[in-house]
Formats: sequence, structure tokens, C-alpha cells
Amino acid sequence: MDPLHILRSVFGYERYRVPQEEVIHTLMAGNDALVLMPTGGGKSLCFQIPSIARPGTGLVISPLIALMQDQVAALKQAGVRAAFLNSTLDATAAGMVEQQLLNGELDLLYIAPERLMLERTLDLLARAGLALFAIDEAHCVSQWGHDFRPDYIQLSVLHQRFPGVPRIALTATADEPTRREIIARLGLENARVFISGFDRPNIRYRISQGNGSAREQLLRFIRAEHAGDAGIVYCLSRKRVDEIAAWLEAQGLAALPYHAGLSAEVRERNQARFINEEGVIIVATIAFGMGIDKPNVRFVAHLNLPKSIEAYYQETGRAGRDGLPADAWMIYGLQDVITLRQMLESSQSGDAHKRVERHKLDAMLGLCELTTCRRQALLAYFDDPLPAPCGNCDTCLEPPATWDASVPAQKALSCVHRTGQRFGVNYLIDVLLGKEDERIQRFGHDKSSTFGIGKDLGQQEWRGVFRQLIARGLLAVDLEGHGALKLTDACRPVLRGEERVMLRRETKPEKTKKTKATRAARGAFSQETDQRLWEALRARRLEIAKAQGVPPYVVFHDATLAEMVARRPQTLEQLAHISGVGERKLAAYGADFLEVIRAHPRDDA
Ligand code: ADP
Ligand code: ZN
Repeated sequence: MDPLHILRSVFGYERYRVPQEEVIHTLMAGNDALVLMPTGGGKSLCFQIPSIARPGTGLVISPLIALMQDQVAALKQAGVRAAFLNSTLDATAAGMVEQQLLNGELDLLYIAPERLMLERTLDLLARAGLALFAIDEAHCVSQWGHDFRPDYIQLSVLHQRFPGVPRIALTATADEPTRREIIARLGLENARVFISGFDRPNIRYRISQGNGSAREQLLRFIRAEHAGDAGIVYCLSRKRVDEIAAWLEAQGLAALPYHAGLSAEVRERNQARFINEEGVIIVATIAFGMGIDKPNVRFVAHLNLPKSIEAYYQETGRAGRDGLPADAWMIYGLQDVITLRQMLESSQSGDAHKRVERHKLDAMLGLCELTTCRRQALLAYFDDPLPAPCGNCDTCLEPPATWDASVPAQKALSCVHRTGQRFGVNYLIDVLLGKEDERIQRFGHDKSSTFGIGKDLGQQEWRGVFRQLIARGLLAVDLEGHGALKLTDACRPVLRGEERVMLRRETKPEKTKKTKATRAARGAFSQETDQRLWEALRARRLEIAKAQGVPPYVVFHDATLAEMVARRPQTLEQLAHISGVGERKLAAYGADFLEVIRAHPRDDA
């Protein structure tokens, strides 16, 4: 069968994305491929289409069971003969799948790596007709990465045992060392390598300084811009996760906690609700997200600063996999900076390791304090430069003002110096503000030359100054973990007046004007009737999904429903032209959705 025909008739997509076509041709010709593409780029079609088009079954090795089940469910919806073999199947069910494989009745078979490596499975494969091997999440073979899986190392035997079967390895992890390791360990020296840029243009990056209550700010953000949307909120500690989830719930939102301290049963239930229902918010520690393939996560919010840009990019990357507008929203403040610096300095790891970690944290803090395009900085960090500012991050949309803070910086630094580099931020600010305070008097700092020299700024502004000085490494946090600030070598030129310090002006609480603009930009429906149709289509989708026990996005993606709202197809023929409507889905659900569309005519129609 012709791959392009499959793209159109089975998946309902009109054209390939770059580099899908070339990858598919490589496999069709029997050659190997290594594909590095960002999340949401469209990796799956690269192996799904040739698996269908080539004789035999495409074998997909995937470490994530939840993800496997999702993909198989989605493929079945599209009329593809797909199955999986993993520990969730009992012996009878597994036996049936194996028989289907031998009978040549499967286009795709998903399998966990540990199961694949069993001698029994390898024998089975030797008797089956194989179209290709697809090794998903291929970075799991890297021992230096975060997701190392020992079973992945053994996947090199595939090459030896099945030399004639083409292989494709796929990952969203970009860096050069990981890529080299994948090639070496999987024996992919002859593979064609496809590297796409790592930009996620539909994600709007926003980082703001906390002013007042972080959770209130979060609530305002969700209510104003993401009412009814699914999202993930990341917090640092379990305690905070429980607290935020309970609080959001009390405000009337469908928010559920997720962290390692909850029983497996609760975690599973919460995750299942997130996947199978609409508009559920998961409040989680960073543990949540691996293996979640929900395409319509509309926002990822961080109430704490991630430790590195890598972590930030991975976590925010869970938003908007379907390519529709999504928000990566973060709030952070002085205390985050201090806590992370402290954790780092007091950690037990060796010097070399600490140096790397420090560098990563500096880069993360730099991103937060940036006054230029965030996306340019992010992509530059991953060696994937973006030539012009993106126009879709907070600093592009509302360029922050900067101010010459050289004199306040000198005042703050000398205050640290005069009080003996033994005190934390709150104390230092009290001294600068000339506060009547028993402790200050006891230490005699009311006599210090820096006492009361900072009355021109308020408490909040001073916190901003200190945060930025720490973030930039002009002040260090003590090793003992009491939060005392010390001068660093980097601050000398500032103290001597040889270097100017330009700081970001602190943002005011978010204005309604901006949130409106965001909503319009993300394609929320301006017309009342459109909004109602959208809700009705979602409701119908949920009904169908529930009846079949699959997640709603497996029936149709949000993008497909949004296109139905915009184009209002009136006939099956017109509906077939909507992206994401393939032949099987048209036959199965076309009439259902047309009925909903007809029941919601436009006002002006
Ligand atoms: P990845 O595995 O790279 O994260 P997916 O394979 O899940 O990404 O694809 C992301 C989204 O893009 C899915 O919703 C998929 O249906 C859609 N998609 C992929 N290829 C195309 C295409 N050629 N045209 C339209 N949509 C596509
Ligand atoms: Zn930008």
C-alpha cells in the first residue's frame, strides 16, 4: 500500500510534516533511521505508516505501558490492526496476540523491552513476518541520561538476530552525547539521521515574579485563561502538592494530587481521571508526566523553580502536544532562589558534579531574569538558535522595563559586608530600611553606616534586588544552610562602581488586558455560538469515549473538533476533509458529529 494514501485515508491528514516523508521512504527502502524530533512533532507516524505499508508486522518497543495502551487504542480507532504484549495481559490474552502475530493479522505490535528480550519472544519473532523494529524513547539506552533502562542496552541483539529487518530509533532528547550513545549501543552506524529543530512554537513561555500569594495568582491564571482546560501544576514537595490540590478543589476546580507518597491505587485513579475526563488538573511533584501522552494538556504551571533548563523544558513540553496553543506558566520568587542555592551547596555530591549542577541552576535563573526573548534563550541553550525573537513569550509580548540599579546594588552589597556576611535577606532589608528592631540593636547594626540608607525603596523592591543579585551570582548563599548571604568575587566591580547593574523592573499583578489578548490568541472562540458548539462536540466525544473505554482524544483530537467549529461541515464528504478524520472514523462517528454541528447553526447563518 502507498504511504501517502495511508496518511490520508487511515489518519485523515492531508500532508506530511517534515521530515516524516523522508523517514518513511528510508524505512520503505529497507534502511535504518534515527529520528530526533521534539515532543508533538509527529514521531509516531514515522513508524506506523511503514508498518502498515510493508508486509509483516511492525514491532514497537516502548518502555511505557500506559503509552502503549493509548497508542494501540488510537490505532484501533483509526481501523489499524494493532495490539500490545505486556504484563497487563493474562496468559490467554497474550497467547491470542501471539497467534495473531504468527498469522500475519497485525500491522503493529507494541511490546515492553524486557518481554522482547526473552528467548521465547525472540523465537516467536523469528517465525513471524516483520515489517520493521521501532525503538521508541531511544534515549533510554543512555547510561548518563535520566531514563536509563538496562533492557535497552540489549536491544542491539535485534540487529544481529534480524539483520534484514529495518530499524528506526526515536527520541525527543536532543543532545549530541546521547545521540552518539544511541548510535553506538544500538548499532545504528548506517542509519540515516533526521534531526528536527527543538522549538515548540505553540507553547507560550511565561515566567513571573511572585507577588503575594502564589496560589491566588495560579487561580487567577486558570480562571482567566484556562477555565475547563486540562493542565499540570508542578510543586516541589508532597506537602505542597496536597495543599494546593485541596485548595484548588475547594475553589471549585477539578484538581487531583499526584506524588510518590500516595498509594499506587490513588495515583492510578487520579491519572486515569486526568486521561479519561475533560478539564482535570493534576497537581504533582516532578514524578508525574513520564508516560503521559495526553495531547490536550493546555497549560503546565510551575509553582517552584525547576533545577535546570533541561528539567524545565521537559516538564513544560508536556503542554500542547497536539500543536494547539498552550501555556508554560511559572511563578518564582526570592525564596526559590535561596532554597535551590542552599540545596545545591549543602548537597553531598562531589566538586565536579556540583560545578555542573551550579552551572545548570545559573542557566535556569538566567532564563527567569531575562529581559529578552525566552524562547531564543531556551533554544540557544540546546544549540538550536532561533534567529529572531519569537513573539510568543512574555518578554516578547510585554517587554519588561529595566532600571539602573547600580546604587541600590552597592547599598545591598555593602550592607552584607558591614553586617559581617552572617545574615539572611529579611534581616538585611530591615537594616537597609532602618527598622527599629531589638536584634539589630543587639548586634549594634543600628550604628552601621548602611543602617537606613535604603529608605528610597520598599520591602518588596528590595526583595527583588536581592533575588536578582543572588540569581546573578553577585551574592552567594552560605554552605551551612541558614540562608546567610556572602559576597562573591563577581560583586567586586559593582561595589567599586566599575560595573553597572541593570535589573528587571518587577511586574505588577497580571492585568486583565493581557489575559484577554492571550485567550484570543490561543483560538478561544469569540462567538457565543461557536463556544457552545465546541462544548457540545466535546460532550459528544466524551460520551463515545466512555462507551468504548478509551480517552476522548483517541476518538478525535481537540484540533479536529476546533476545525469542525471553524468550518462547520454539513455533509460526510465535507467532514472527510477535516484534518484527523480518516475513513474508519468517518464511518463510525461522522453522522454523530454532523448531527451536533447541524444542531448549532451560526447566528448569522
Ligand atoms: P510525538 O510522538 O513526536 O510526540 P505524535 O506522533 O504523538 O508526536 O504526534 C503529535 C500530534 O501531531 C498528534 O496529534 C498527531 O496526530 C499529529 N500529527 C502527526 N503527523 C501529522 C501530520 N502529518 N498532519 C497532521 N497532524 C499530524
Ligand atoms: Zn519570545
